[in-house]
Amino acid sequence: MRPNIAIDGPSAAGKSTISDILALRLGYTHLDTGAMYRAVAYGAFKSGLPFDAEEAIAKMIENMKLVIHPDGKVFLDGEDISNEIRTNEMSMGASDVSKLGKVREALVEMQRRIAADGGYIVDGRDIGTVVLKDAKVKIFLTASAEDRAKRRVKQNLEKGLPADYDAILEDIIKRDYQDTHRTISPLKKADDAIEIDSSKMSIEEVVDTIIEIVKKNS
Ligand code: C5P
Repeated sequence: MRPNIAIDGPSAAGKSTISDILALRLGYTHLDTGAMYRAVAYGAFKSGLPFDAEEAIAKMIENMKLVIHPDGKVFLDGEDISNEIRTNEMSMGASDVSKLGKVREALVEMQRRIAADGGYIVDGRDIGTVVLKDAKVKIFLTASAEDRAKRRVKQNLEKGLPADYDAILEDIIKRDYQDTHRTISPLKKADDAIEIDSSKMSIEEVVDTIIEIVKKNS
């Protein structure tokens, strides 16, 4: 069985982009767990549920049909919500619903089920510490908040999404705080994870560094 690779780190550190390239180069499948929290936030928003309504959101998850395609497209009950979940509002919404114990329980179970056969690059906040504690390769990807905001602006411009630098930086700082200070599964580096600060690195350099680590561990 092929191993799984865990990639954690703060918002907009490049986890998704890098996981996509790694998946292509290694022939693995990328699972973007942030998209799952975003889809839950979107579902709650559509149903008129406040982001702290734990019981109601947990019930909604039981009945929802969430499909994440390997190409990154996200479908909720048949609707393509890939772009809708990328707004600042849904970023904060995802961070809000991700504090709820029942939401985390349900999504962690789904993530473990998906990755059970190995060969996945799973990116998120708690992959190395909770979801795939036994992963052979664990990466903790960081970069300064300013560098992350600059990259997100560029990415959003390419996708035709709102790209105001100040709003994006504010969102990143707020989510960093919320994600590292929550009670359940806060964002933190696993003891056995390798930290890569990508502030001054190109995407290719980060990818090559991770591939070297994968080679050494397989
Ligand atoms: O990775 P992304 O920015 O899309 O994640 C959106 C939000 O979902 C994060 O800010 C975080 O609060 C939450 N999340 C999480 N655990 C994960 C992945 C994402 O709590 N494994």
